[in-house]
Amino acid sequence: MLENKDQGRTSLEELGEFGLIDHLTKHFEITQKSTVKGVGDDAAILAFSDQQIVVTTDLLIEGVHFDLSYVPLKHLGYKAVMVNLSDVYAMNAVASQITVSIAVSNRFPLEALEDLYVGIQTACKNYEIDLIGGDTTSSTTGLVISVTAIGQAPAEKITSRATAKPNDLLVVTGDVGAAYMGLQILEREKAVFKVNPNSQPDLEQYAYIVERQLKPEARKDIIALFTSLEIVPSSMIDISDGLSSEILHICKNSKVGCNLYEDKIPLDPQVISTCEEFDIDSTTIALSGGEDYELLFTIHQDDYPKIKANPNFTVIGHITSEDEGAHLITRGNTKIPLVARGWNALQSND
Ligand code: ADP
Ligand code: MG
Repeated sequence: MLENKDQGRTSLEELGEFGLIDHLTKHFEITQKSTVKGVGDDAAILAFSDQQIVVTTDLLIEGVHFDLSYVPLKHLGYKAVMVNLSDVYAMNAVASQITVSIAVSNRFPLEALEDLYVGIQTACKNYEIDLIGGDTTSSTTGLVISVTAIGQAPAEKITSRATAKPNDLLVVTGDVGAAYMGLQILEREKAVFKVNPNSQPDLEQYAYIVERQLKPEARKDIIALFTSLEIVPSSMIDISDGLSSEILHICKNSKVGCNLYEDKIPLDPQVISTCEEFDIDSTTIALSGGEDYELLFTIHQDDYPKIKANPNFTVIGHITSEDEGAHLITRGNTKIPLVARGWNALQSND
């Protein structure tokens, strides 16, 4: 360990770029058979058998995608990995490697990056992923993190968002809207803290929604469940931008329409009570909130018996022909066109 000067603040300059990379990555172990060479050469080496490979990248920028005033760096590292793994699982593939690139200003001490990498390492352990490389550079102001995830699956299992068919069932895992409401709580507490720095937020009654915002879990378990239930979804996407936006992606890419039933959308009781407290409509939040990292998929009706008793899955609607359009059927049985950002109750068809 380096000496901690200045109350646990070791400046990055003390280590230099190569010292920093070594310090941050030396505790990571390689566990995947497909990783031939990880960190430490000009490029990593991977070897896969007869699988297809999926690759996905996300870029997270301080002030745009995260606010370090309430996001602990450990959680940020964990979440940066989760958002990428979620994209791999959305292809019905198994994630196996990540690369992590960071741009960081002198404002951050080494200890901050150690925290970030603790979160990354926890994610790698929990999800059985190897860290195989990345890049490290300086930034003039904020923190930038880019993660690339690599996964694999047999060609016949890989699931695109472009292959839903009319009459397929539209299914979602878990519940939606919680991460957005967790963010509302964190933003509110930040505003309170600004006025009164001695205030101690009591977040217990919001524990679930705050955790969904700060520490989302990608649905690796669902990919394994599909295998054991012998299901290959007819299409799939992960919910990063909000349920309605993702449904519209499936509809547009698959050239289909859909009916989504408001009363079927799975909401956690904490989402409902917090929406009441903020006086906002929980359906709007479920449709437009985002960052749920649940999976939205379609299955052929013949597969319905395989999912029907499973608490992980909720059937929320069905696919129609393209010319029927994409609609929300409200609790009051009104048909409203789905729009990507929220929905306008005034746009009723009736
Ligand atoms: P190069 O000069 O060839 O780009 P680098 O000095 O940037 O190499 O990286 C050296 C090794 O460390 C490479 O294996 C690279 O993938 C890895 N690496 C660099 N930065 C990071 C990081 N932030 N996290 C994980 N691995 C990293
Ligand atoms: Mg480099």
